[in-house]
Amino acid sequence: MTNNKKTALHSPEKQLTLEDKLFLVKTKKDTVSHIKVNSKMCKHCASKMCLIVCPAKTYEERKGVIEANYENCLECGSCRVICTDGAIEWENPRGGFGVTFING
Ligand code: SF4
Ligand code: SF4
Repeated sequence: MTNNKKTALHSPEKQLTLEDKLFLVKTKKDTVSHIKVNSKMCKHCASKMCLIVCPAKTYEERKGVIEANYENCLECGSCRVICTDGAIEWENPRGGFGVTFING
């Protein structure tokens, strides 16, 4: 690779923001949630890492209760790993639903 090509690929102008990347995702929304949160367990959770780790801001705390806006989910799996209390029940969306990453 020549220096010019390397520079073009790594230039700041070519870097996509999170919003740009989310624009490249198509979602077919299901009517049934593929995420369930055991909110009783969340009451004892100090970190509430699900609110921080999810790139799609799927989790929200409303009046002290953690809720999942499953339609936002990008199926990255991070919440399943980060919630060490096991309060998140997560399944793949039903066939034909969920995200499609346009660039693979
Ligand atoms: S990390 Fe798990 S236990 Fe903690 S608030 Fe989120 S879902 Fe609940
Ligand atoms: S799988 Fe990823 S995008 Fe979906 S809710 Fe969990 S952290 Fe958010």
